[in-house]
Formats: sequence, structure tokens, C-alpha cells
Amino acid sequence: MVTNTYPRHRTPAEHGSPASRRRFLAVLGTAAAALPLLGACGTGSGGAADPDHRGPVGGALPRVRVSQAASPGRGVKRTSFPITAVGVTWTGSPHGVRLRLIDRSGRPGDWQDVRAGCPCGKDPDILRTRSAAPPHRALVPARGSYGYQLDVDAGVKVVEAIAIDAGRLGRKGRTTTPGTPSTPAAPSGSASDVAFPPPGLLLRADWGADEAKRLTVDGKQSSPTRFTPVQAITVHHTATPVDDPDPAATVRAIYEQHAVSNDWGDIGYNFLIDRQGAVYEGRFSDTDGIPAHNADDEVVTAFHTFGFNSGNIGIALLGDFEEAKPSARMRDSLVRLTASLAARHELDPLAGVTYVSPTSGKSTEGPAVGGHRDWTSTECPGAATYLDLTDVRERAAELIR
Ligand SMILES: [Zn+2]
Repeated sequence: MVTNTYPRHRTPAEHGSPASRRRFLAVLGTAAAALPLLGACGTGSGGAADPDHRGPVGGALPRVRVSQAASPGRGVKRTSFPITAVGVTWTGSPHGVRLRLIDRSGRPGDWQDVRAGCPCGKDPDILRTRSAAPPHRALVPARGSYGYQLDVDAGVKVVEAIAIDAGRLGRKGRTTTPGTPSTPAAPSGSASDVAFPPPGLLLRADWGADEAKRLTVDGKQSSPTRFTPVQAITVHHTATPVDDPDPAATVRAIYEQHAVSNDWGDIGYNFLIDRQGAVYEGRFSDTDGIPAHNADDEVVTAFHTFGFNSGNIGIALLGDFEEAKPSARMRDSLVRLTASLAARHELDPLAGVTYVSPTSGKSTEGPAVGGHRDWTSTECPGAATYLDLTDVRERAAELIR
């Protein structure tokens, strides 16, 4: 096992011209004009929390530790720290990997099938690998195990496996207390339904993003920020547990996998939402204090939908929603966030768009508010969420009518 001590990014090359978009001014009317201007963001966990929900509220930077298997594949990998999640990247069959966790005393648990997660990624990656299928990736929760073992089918190659300890937030002596809800849920129908940033948004500092992970060893942005006008909003799921006891740790684990292991230089989503409805700022968007945007109201390009990343706001629901339905709080937050973004960017949530990729120049018809599978072949955002999107669109449209 090799322990990562610094990022190993390369500087990516992103190309393209400004995107065009459809406008839906008539639908928005005065609602959009009445929205609050961009400004300072709140902090703290949104909504009242379950007793077991450990919401992030800032504090010391969590100590994130990673063990990278020198030769991923079969064989037991042990760690000296409790593992939050195991990140696995492989090629071959998406169903060809199994994993079992090892407890502190070395006892193995049951074998479990590893399900490939949301196949997000950088646009240039798919252009470079046009002839080859992108690898499968998964983030398997480890819940404090001290090791793991992989078993793979013939024809499957594990190209990377990392054990992540996402650390803990809010250490003793800090002024903030983890799990303290600071922003009560807003009554439905209030102006805050479509406020942006959403009330209680957890900024990167709040969930413990180590900004050094975005940088190369010489201090430059590994994936320099690039902004384009918004054309669409795309919903994902993270294929992590629905009953996540520490969603902020999961966000840090995803950040670690995306930024460092996948070498994208940052987390791939623009926003994430946990089961309590707390919204997390995702991809870094410079230091002007406007989450996901620049001062010209363009959105930062993230890495969530191959070929359709520029001008596409990626919102990831924390959990696996192939069968389970997102919680009411999660859906409510998704509706409000979608409504606020649609209003800002003059998108009709019920409409279609002709997406023009600034990267490839290709035009594609798609929904203004859709799921990952509307743009590419994937199960993401899960069948339950996908079916729910009709309701999300209608409720978001209602809010900004
Ligand atoms: Zn996805």
C-alpha cells in the first residue's frame, strides 16, 4: 500500500467556444426579476436533523487519509486507519467485481457485488478515449473497516483501488458543533423557495474540502475554472448508501476519488444534496463568493456528464436511488434548488433544450431539467429518481410561475 501525501494532477486542456442556449423569458415573467441578487452564503446544516444525522457545520479541516493499492486486484489490503469508503476503478464487465471488508481484527465480512456508480467525467477524457469505453467506478462504504479484498471476473482489470478515511468535522475546541441544525426548513411558498444560494447552503469549507487537492504540486489549479452560460440542469445519484450516517464524510470521499484518484482536479458535481435536504457546494468556482458561478452568471464547468458538462449544472443526490426513493426532504431541496437555478438562468423546467457543446460543437436535444441517463447510457440517477423527475419539474415550475 502506498499512502498519498500530495495530489498528482496534470494540467488539463479544456477547449471550446461559448455555448448558445434557449431562453424562456415568457414563462418566468416577474418571478425571476424578483429573485434576490447573488450575495453572501449561509452556512450550517439545512433543516431539522435526525438524531443520527451528523451534519457538517465547519470546524477544523478533517484529516483525510488515503491508502492506494500498489497492485490493485486480488489479495487482502489492510490499512492502519478506519476506512470510510473504498474507491474502485475497473475495466471490463460493470458487474465483474466483488469486495469484502476486513475488520480491525482481520476478520473478513461477506462478499458483496460492487455496483458501478454514476459514470461522470471530464469532457476531454471522453474525446481522448473515443474508441474505448470509460472505466467503471464505484465508491463502496466501508463503515470503519480496516481493510478489504477484491475478487474479479475473468476479463476484468482493476486499474485503481483506494481506501479513504474521510476524517471527522468539528473537532473539540471549535466554536461549531456538528449536528446542530442552524437553518430551519423554510415554509413552503416563501420567497426563500427560489432564493439562490439556497438558505443553509454548505460551502466547501463547511463540509471540509481540502482546497490543496485541487492544486498541482506547484500551486496551480489542476483543472482551471472555466465558465459558460447555463443550458441545462442534470440530476445524478452517487450510488452510495441511502442511510448514510455521515454525508459530509461521503462528500469528502467523493471529492478525494474525483479530484485525486480520477485526476479530475475537483469534485465532479456542482451541488450535492443529502437525505436531510442539506445542499452542499460542489465544484470550486473561484473566490468571488458566488457558488458555482462567476460574476457574469455563467456556471463553472464540472465533470458529471461526459460530453455535456459545459453549461450543465450537475446536482447529485447522495444515495442509491435505483430502487429506494429519495426522502421527502431531499426531494423538496432538489425542487427548490432546481427552481432557483432555472429562474436565474431563464430555463423552463418543463421544456426541452438544444444543447450545444462548446467542447465538440455538437447539438443534442435534451430536457432543461433531466437525469444523467437523458444524456448518456447509464442507470444514473437511478430508476426511482428518474421517475420522480416529472414531479420535480412540475413543482419547480410551479415555484417560479
Ligand atoms: Zn450521474
